[in-house]
Amino acid sequence: MRRKVLIVEDEPDIARLVKNHLSDINCDADIAPNGADARAFFDNSEYQLIVLDLMLPDTDGLTLCRHFRAAEGYVPILMLTAKSSELDRVLGLEMGADDYLTKPFSIPELIARIKALFRRVEAFHKQPEPSKAGEVLQFNEMLIDVDKRQIRVKDKAIDLTAREFELLLFFARHPGRVFNRVQLLDQVWGYNHDGYEHTVNSHINRLRAKIEDDPSSPTYVHTVWGVGYKFADSTGG
Ligand code: CA
Repeated sequence: MRRKVLIVEDEPDIARLVKNHLSDINCDADIAPNGADARAFFDNSEYQLIVLDLMLPDTDGLTLCRHFRAAEGYVPILMLTAKSSELDRVLGLEMGADDYLTKPFSIPELIARIKALFRRVEAFHKQPEPSKAGEVLQFNEMLIDVDKRQIRVKDKAIDLTAREFELLLFFARHPGRVFNRVQLLDQVWGYNHDGYEHTVNSHINRLRAKIEDDPSSPTYVHTVWGVGYKFADSTGG
């Protein structure tokens, strides 16, 4: 399967190097040396991945990230940054990059990250939500009764709002998988959400306060630094 990648990078040597190595893993790539070209490519074509340099001559990668994220659908973004001090901005502003590499990076590392992003996104699209009658999910000391929309932790009923329940159920149906905030907004709030990424954070905080013994050291909903959240892998009871 051939995939299409958009490389947004103003250093021609790096852009060409990345493009050549992408062709080794069956990817065609367009190169945009500035923000204006990047928007034009993005608005007129479909990509399975964007490699995005943070510092560009006419704009910066975070502004472009916002543009890409405002579009329908979900394209993973691998951010390239020149200085590790810029990581705070990339991650702290939660602009929705899925992963990042600090320059100078090694090509094997770049290719490994790109393959991991492809795998993550493709696994994500493969699984429709099954709704089985009488479905009950169990994790450690938590029981989720899907039909009754009830949850019990240590045999005590927990009162969740509809959205908190949907969020918990989505996590519980994908244990061990990492989701960033944009993916959670799309999946739990729906594609036409007008929410913001901090909406996800505040719901997760409220959910943790209700279901976790110690919300600062959660058993169920874990923070994955710089990426998002994942639900406990363990289904042991
Ligand atoms: Ca640059």
